[in-house]
This record gives sequence, C-alpha cells and structure tokens, in this order.
Amino acid sequence: MTSSIRVVLVDTTHPGNIGGAARAIKNMGLSSLYLVSPREFPADRALWRAANAADVLDNAVVVDTLDEAIVGCGLVIGTSARDRRIPWPLLDPRECGERVVAESAHHPVALVFGREDRGLTNEELQKCTYHVHIPANPEYSSLNLAAAVQVITYEVRMAMLQVEQGKIPLQEWDMPPARVEDIELYFQHLEQALVDIGFHDRDNPRQTMARLRRLYSRIRLDEMELSILRGVLTAIQNVAFRLAGEKGKSD
Ligand code: SAH
Repeated sequence: MTSSIRVVLVDTTHPGNIGGAARAIKNMGLSSLYLVSPREFPADRALWRAANAADVLDNAVVVDTLDEAIVGCGLVIGTSARDRRIPWPLLDPRECGERVVAESAHHPVALVFGREDRGLTNEELQKCTYHVHIPANPEYSSLNLAAAVQVITYEVRMAMLQVEQGKIPLQEWDMPPARVEDIELYFQHLEQALVDIGFHDRDNPRQTMARLRRLYSRIRLDEMELSILRGVLTAIQNVAFRLAGEKGKSD
C-alpha cells in the first residue's frame, strides 16, 4: 500500500528541500519520490538534509514532465498554498490522508507539490482530482516545501494507523477509476469533438475546458464510464462529419 503512494515534487529549485522531503517521506513510512525536472539533482545538499533517508533519494524517479510522474495513477491530489481563480474540489489535510490511504490499496496515488517560488501552475492543478490546502495563518499561508510535505505525509501516516486499527474502511467500487493518462486522452477527444460540432473555438477558449475538467473531476469517472463516453464522442463526431459531407455535396 505505501509504495503505491507517490510524492511528486515539481521543478524544485533547492536540493535541500528535496532532501528534507525525502526525510519526511521515510519518517512517515512512505518511500516513493518522483522529481519533475529538479534544478539540481543528485546533489550533496539533498543528501545532507535527507540524513538516514538517502535510500529514498537513491530510488527517486526523475522525469521531465508532470504527466510522466502521475502516469498510472487513479487519484492525483495537488497542493496549493493559496486560493486559485477557479475553485476545485478541495480536501483538508486530514481528508486528504484518509482518501489517499483508502484508495492506495487499489491503485497508485500521487501527491503533487509545487515550486518554491510559484507553486503549481493552473494547468498542473487542473490535472488533479482534488486540491489540498494546509489551513495555515491566512496572512502567511505558504509553508516551506519540505515542511508542507511533512504535514501532508503525517496525515497519510495517521490515516494508515487508523486503517490498521480498522477505523477507516478501505474503499470498494465495482470498476477501477480511470487512470489520469486516459482522462487526458478523453479531454483531448472531448475538445476535438466540441470543435467538430462548432461548440468550442480553440482560438477563443475562455474557461470551457477548465470548467469541464472540474466537472469530471467532481464525478470521478471509472474505466467503464470513460470508455462509454469515448464511444459517445466518436458517434457524435461521425454524425458531424456525415452532416458536413452532405452539406458539402449540396453546396
Ligand atoms: N508562493 C507559492 C508558494 C509555494 S510553496 C504559491 O503561492 O503558490 C511551495 C509548495 O509547498 C507549494 O507549491 C505546495 O506544494 C506546498 N505548500 C506550501 N504551503 C502550503 C499550504 N498552506 N497548503 C498546501 N501546500 C502548501
């Protein structure tokens, strides 16, 4: 269960924070660290801060993009130090810990942390199923990156201990949730279908796709539902192409 919980750090500037995060991860009984294009890694400063968690650094998976870091995950939770323009389904750290542990028994789960200076971009946050915010001092709510990893992984640890004591039931559903990469393909298909039927204009997108992403994120599509929806889109596109062809002939 613990190896299916990934901590993902995006574009980290200071290697010391990577080491601090590795230590927090191991202290809380986790092991899996993904680094998306870290500025400096491997690095001595990361090793110093990791103390006896050097094994977490040795096993860290370094990738170029967030998509690669979350591939295969059925649940992705993005952390945010402040409110964003479009509010997203939000968990507090305790709910986050419980959900992560409950779902990690069935599929890989990712906890995504942002850059020291700018956090996660809106595009990255919109790939997440939920957001989690640590309710810190509203006048100074931005924690150090490694400290934020510590708080969130502590809640995961507390939830794991609760599960061991039978206090949190593990979640059951007849179908696995759709994997993030399949959801990304669905959104590409949906956008194309909306263009094909003249509903959506890529040159004037407004917030349509962001709002649709949020809608689906609230629903939590499973694999079967996703494949039905892909079939519906293809059928709609076929009608649109046929009508366009008939119109082309009669013009
Ligand atoms: N100035 C940035 C803060 C980045 S802090 C911003 O406004 O977004 C670096 C990272 O630490 C964040 O991307 C997030 O992953 C985590 N973090 C810091 N404070 C947090 C908080 N209060 N709740 C959740 N995550 C937090």
